[in-house]
Amino acid sequence: MLERIRIVLIGTSHPGNIGGVARAMHNMGLADLALVAPRCEVITQDSISRASGADHLLHQAKVHASLEDAVADCTLAVGASARSRTLPWPMISPRELAERLPSECQPDNARVALVFGREDSGLTNAELQRCHAHVHIPTNADFSSLNLAAAVQVIAYECRMAWLTQQDSATAEETDDALATHAELERYFEHLERTLIAIEFHDPAQPRQLMARLRRLYLRSRPEKMEMNILRGILSATEKAADQRQP
Ligand code: SAH
Repeated sequence: MLERIRIVLIGTSHPGNIGGVARAMHNMGLADLALVAPRCEVITQDSISRASGADHLLHQAKVHASLEDAVADCTLAVGASARSRTLPWPMISPRELAERLPSECQPDNARVALVFGREDSGLTNAELQRCHAHVHIPTNADFSSLNLAAAVQVIAYECRMAWLTQQDSATAEETDDALATHAELERYFEHLERTLIAIEFHDPAQPRQLMARLRRLYLRSRPEKMEMNILRGILSATEKAADQRQP
């Protein structure tokens, strides 16, 4: 997913900021950097030092003459804006953007462009109108504009969090971390009740909501399949021990 996300910087004027963006991207696992008509040199002492070891992104960065060029192959373009504009456009938060990314990045040909503006004047209305949606980092209304690299950092972090969540749920599905199903839990509750009766802890004639309370306890902890197996193993061992003690 992360390899399908492109950071597009329009008309950047400080090499240090481009370096800072490269660092923020590499920290978060993004690598596709596109520069539209930069107003400064890209590879300088300043940009290399601010990149702090992520300068390979500066060397790989593609320079384009226009925004159209930079996003021509993209299936979704989102413009980052510090201010609200006269013509309202679909406006999302970085987190809402990130939630959309797994599905937006699904098709093989998917490319998502996140477009950032100039340090002094941001994105023009014409540029913003070339984007499907706008993303705004909810800042102090009296001081809303972040440094360019800081804005990229916040949005790249949300992208990474969405990617990590996707990775976690994929591994949970295929490993021991999978949650027990309803049927597995029901089998466990039956086994538990049988065992508690056998060891005379539970008297079905005087239930006192014991099984309901135990259900509430187990359901609250969302047991995994593997944990359910351990618990059932304990019940079987308990039954066996109780059997052996019968006179
Ligand atoms: N002075 C400019 C802002 C420049 S900051 C203005 O008033 O528009 C450089 C870029 O960082 C912006 O174009 C935008 O892409 C991004 N940015 C800064 N603050 C942001 C915020 N609060 N939300 C979203 N993007 C932001």
